[in-house]
Amino acid sequence: MEIKIALAGNPNCGKTTLFNSLTGSNQYVGNWPGVTVEKKEGRLKGHKDVIVQDLPGIYSLSPYTMEEVVARDYLVGEKPDVILNIIDGTNIERNLYLTTQLIEIGIPVVVAVNMMDLVRKNGDNIDIKKLGDQLGCRMIEISALKGESTVEAAELAIRAAMEQNEAELPHVFNGSVEHAIAHIEESIEGFVDSKELRWYAIKVFERDQKAVQKVKISADVKNHIEQHIVDCEKELDDDAESIITNQRYEYITALVNKTVKKGRAAGELTFSDKVDRVVTNRFLALPIFAVVMFLVYYVSVTTIGSQMTDWTNDVLFGEIVEPGAREFLEGVGTSEWLVSLIVDGIIHGIGTPIGFVPQMAVVFLFLSFLEDCGYMARVAFIMDRAFRKFGLSGKSFIPFLISSGCGVPGIMGTRTIENESDRRMTMITTTMIPCGAKLPVIAAIAGFIMGGAWWMAPACYFGGIALVIIYCIVLKKTSFFAGDPVPFVMELPQYHIPSLKGLLMHVWERVWAFMKKAGTILFLCCAVMWFLASFGFADGEFGLVESKDSILAMIGGILAPLFVPLGIGNWQTVAATLSGFVAKEGLVSTMSLLSAIGEEVEEYEEAYHAAYLAFFPTTMAAVSYLMFNLFDSPCLAAISSLAKELGNRKVFWFAILFQNLGAYVVTLMAYQLIGLAVGQVAFSIWTVVAAVLLAGLLYVLFAPDPFRNRVHAQESAAARVRA
Ligand code: GDP
Ligand code: MG
Repeated sequence: MEIKIALAGNPNCGKTTLFNSLTGSNQYVGNWPGVTVEKKEGRLKGHKDVIVQDLPGIYSLSPYTMEEVVARDYLVGEKPDVILNIIDGTNIERNLYLTTQLIEIGIPVVVAVNMMDLVRKNGDNIDIKKLGDQLGCRMIEISALKGESTVEAAELAIRAAMEQNEAELPHVFNGSVEHAIAHIEESIEGFVDSKELRWYAIKVFERDQKAVQKVKISADVKNHIEQHIVDCEKELDDDAESIITNQRYEYITALVNKTVKKGRAAGELTFSDKVDRVVTNRFLALPIFAVVMFLVYYVSVTTIGSQMTDWTNDVLFGEIVEPGAREFLEGVGTSEWLVSLIVDGIIHGIGTPIGFVPQMAVVFLFLSFLEDCGYMARVAFIMDRAFRKFGLSGKSFIPFLISSGCGVPGIMGTRTIENESDRRMTMITTTMIPCGAKLPVIAAIAGFIMGGAWWMAPACYFGGIALVIIYCIVLKKTSFFAGDPVPFVMELPQYHIPSLKGLLMHVWERVWAFMKKAGTILFLCCAVMWFLASFGFADGEFGLVESKDSILAMIGGILAPLFVPLGIGNWQTVAATLSGFVAKEGLVSTMSLLSAIGEEVEEYEEAYHAAYLAFFPTTMAAVSYLMFNLFDSPCLAAISSLAKELGNRKVFWFAILFQNLGAYVVTLMAYQLIGLAVGQVAFSIWTVVAAVLLAGLLYVLFAPDPFRNRVHAQESAAARVRA
């Protein structure tokens, strides 16, 4: 017989960590509430017939958020054999709120009090024997991170699943509430499974529509029940749902007072509290965040990473792999075009972005450290404060942060935003944050054109955030995206030092994903680009031609005039931009292909430098090119998840148009106006166009929000009526 164990608990209580340790898999352990929106399944190590389910983190079993719905449908609908409820021992009061609901479902519950390492460090003491007796379920103390008692917890769950004992439910509710619930239980008996009686009775009391629909009682009985509920509400002067919530909390507070002894006196600050005083300080928070992110990008792209990248580019590929491959292929008599395809097209094309892997790995290492130690959770909280001024919620910031790795999970991460228009807005703007694949592009431009400009990578990161904010302010002023920000609640986990293994695993996952992409999509992209850049019509015949006569030159040439106002109107840069839609690192591949093809390259560093100088007549043109390619539509993979997640063709095309037109306008303004200021661009009609666009943008940014006013006006009108 198969046994199903469901892991349930609040966000950040350690479910995924426990899941990984029990199943031996390596699901991503995010420090974000809602990262695990889908449930994940694995088999318990050493027990082929035991399935473990990692459910999304939830605070309650109400039907309000996507996570709650997923978890609830599974627990109530599909019925696992046992629930392993993980609770964060450092925050027991908040966590027990869910526990009191889980035990009502009628499935055996085993409670694992996690983070015991931190609990002990804090000097707290939890009497789990007494707590378990009171709640009527088995309890065990564990530390998922340290692997302490995790196997025992699973074994306890298996035993509970086999026995299927009916638990004695604690007396959570009292007075007329308990009376009403008992009455509802009687009325619906026979309409639901006897084990689920309590759960449905409480849900009916709360007027939870999803539950009410499942209980097929007659209208008469319904009215009768409604009368009981209304009486209760009158007596306690509150609505049914709040009554239940309040009584649950009262019960939990009393229970915790009896069973938990805090090591610290009330009001005494923990280490995390002390750090948070500084890090989330109203005035210091944003500057600290800026410095931290600056250091991350500066250190990884400019210092450590760039040295390793130089080595991979110059020595590994430039001196060993490419000449070696060429010699070998020529030695065995491979035809000239095939040597060119393999060496110039593929090895060179893929090799260049791979050269940037060290930089990427260092960025990922820093970002996962910041996320895992608990800092990024603070950033979301800080950003919520800042974003609220623009009508945005901190919930949007989580996808933005995830997008600094890759836009695909960033777009998926918006699923936790309940408000549809906010969610769409976040999806459309989230890929402005430079992802890992854009790092090679940034590093290449900064390195080959600007002599390794140290500020380039941080500038791109902050530029991305600034653009997101600008876009959101603009979008919020349209009727389609107007509305107040959704509330954002999140638990701040205690700071801790992440495990090295976890960090390295995460970095490896990212790097491996990148390598796989290099071996598949990028490989194809390089081969196609090589073909397009090598073949074409010359003297009326199709065949191998010089690259300036190639098909690619033709296609690029058609679109090039469009980009003249941005200073990048040559066919090579346009061709590279096109390959960027396949994969952003393809930009670098195409650029290096075009710089090497048909040339006898002696020194790669110099060859790139010369080629880039030929493509970009001025530094401003290079910056313009970088800007356009950072802010236009993302790669195919991200575009397709955008299409899927938006789920609406019209909105999808709006998104694509918005992204590309937006990138064009922003780049045009920057190139023309900054270029004019630094003396790299001459005055022309485009200067005027850029100035007019800038004036228009500033007007929209600073004009009052028509929709906010309307909402406020309505509110005050309503307030007046009430008064
Ligand atoms: P989930 O949201 O419930 O899936 O929680 P995760 O498994 O993602 O864990 C959230 C954070 O808590 C991660 O940074 C974990 O490393 C950390 N964590 C999990 N279990 C423990 C534990 O027993 N002790 C400590 N100190 N940290 C833990
Ligand atoms: Mg998780």
